[in-house]
Amino acid sequence: MSTTTPPSAIPIPTDRPVRVRIAPSPTGDPHVGTAYIALFNKAFAEKHGGRFVLRIEDTDQKRSNEASEKAIFASLRWLGLDWHEGPDVGGEYGPYRQSERTAIYREHAQQLVDSGHAYPCFATAEELEEMRATAQAEGRRTAYDRRYRDLPRDEVARRLAAGEEHVIRLKMPLEGRIGFVDGLRGPIEIDAAEVDDQILLKSDGFPTYHLANVVDDHLMRITHVIRAEEWIPSTPKHVALYDAFGWEPPAFVHMPLLRNKDKSKISKRKNPVSLEYYRASGYLPEAMVNFLGRMGWSMPDESEKFTYGQMVEHFDFSRMSLSGPIFDLDKLGWLNGLYLRELTHAELVERLTGWLFGADYLTRLAPLVQERVTTLGDFVGKTAYFLGPPRALTADDLVPKKVGDKDAAHRVLKDVTEVLDGVTDWRNEPLEAVCREQCEVTGWKARDLFGMLRTAVTGETATPPLFETMEVIGKARCQARLREALAVLAP
Ligand code: GLU
Repeated sequence: MSTTTPPSAIPIPTDRPVRVRIAPSPTGDPHVGTAYIALFNKAFAEKHGGRFVLRIEDTDQKRSNEASEKAIFASLRWLGLDWHEGPDVGGEYGPYRQSERTAIYREHAQQLVDSGHAYPCFATAEELEEMRATAQAEGRRTAYDRRYRDLPRDEVARRLAAGEEHVIRLKMPLEGRIGFVDGLRGPIEIDAAEVDDQILLKSDGFPTYHLANVVDDHLMRITHVIRAEEWIPSTPKHVALYDAFGWEPPAFVHMPLLRNKDKSKISKRKNPVSLEYYRASGYLPEAMVNFLGRMGWSMPDESEKFTYGQMVEHFDFSRMSLSGPIFDLDKLGWLNGLYLRELTHAELVERLTGWLFGADYLTRLAPLVQERVTTLGDFVGKTAYFLGPPRALTADDLVPKKVGDKDAAHRVLKDVTEVLDGVTDWRNEPLEAVCREQCEVTGWKARDLFGMLRTAVTGETATPPLFETMEVIGKARCQARLREALAVLAP
């Protein structure tokens, strides 16, 4: 893959409206990266009087779930990043959920088979394994040896009639270069021969990301694909697909990855990445939007504080820098303070009640501590860690006395944290079930393991029932607290 500078300008069509989209996969907690990409898409669309589409890419049946989709909607709305078209608001080019479009993908895959641009591949798992091993031994980058690409028509027909399991693959060009112009980087090209014949339709009839993404971007009349840098390797494959269909590809803009201070890619190991964490921790949506708007982009006058409206007014990709924007929580905190202090008293009260000091949260919280108080005033001390961070902990607080071994405590807490990361139904019973299982796995007594967990999440040794407490504090904040406790055990 090669890139050249200087970057070319981003073409704005004059004969049709600008249409952009975000296409999140609903497979986990709503990620700050999704909001980042959404913000730049929306700002670009609004600057050019265009439309911002939300499409749900849920073709990974095993990992996609409705809870995650709902959380994506809620988090983006919290930030004010609403969409003009999407699964829940409709639109002219729907459905906007890929799982409701499988017939469309099948038809399109068939169209490519009929036109000679794609073919059924009958390779078994063993054959693929053998090809992989051979490619590795020969030091080749491509693994699939294209053995089913030019099968005689009658043999294909016979195998299909016999119901042989197969996928549909794209005939990648065998030579030459495939390229595109990235709006921020300029031309990017690869040798076509470096790319395997891509699978378009899986044996279960579901499309791969590549097919569904290209077909949808075309049918939804997307003019600019603005997505994260990590998709750059996919783009030449998409361009080959556009060619095979005889379609004009959209313009491509790949946004830089958000990075930690140490320049590593942001991940939940280092910084909380769930938007839900930021909402529950009391960040204001406008501060978050401002913060994300500064990731690689700047206002013409370099001012650090600006509203979404000001961003749209001055929006231009030419002021985008590719040098790895730093997701610096100190900066976010600083901005948040500015916004918070600017509110009128009435607005501040409104924000507080809309956050955790309102009837919604108190209704969940109050029953948990009711048994443990004698005055209303007692609620304050007893609920502190439900509202804000727990007190600072030391290793002594965390390591159970009976265990007395910091390394062992770290190992066990790390495993529990990983298991909890995978819990999608963050409620009392499922939480208890997975944690009890961890007692069996680790051989730790429930008292020790639950005690350590309680301290990590609340900073206290006595609390209302642990798993109800964790349910109410919520997944994102529990995860962040567990990571802080891990850092205390293994600095
Ligand atoms: N479904 C992909 C994602 O989860 C979409 C990438 C794209 O924008 O093409 O980010």
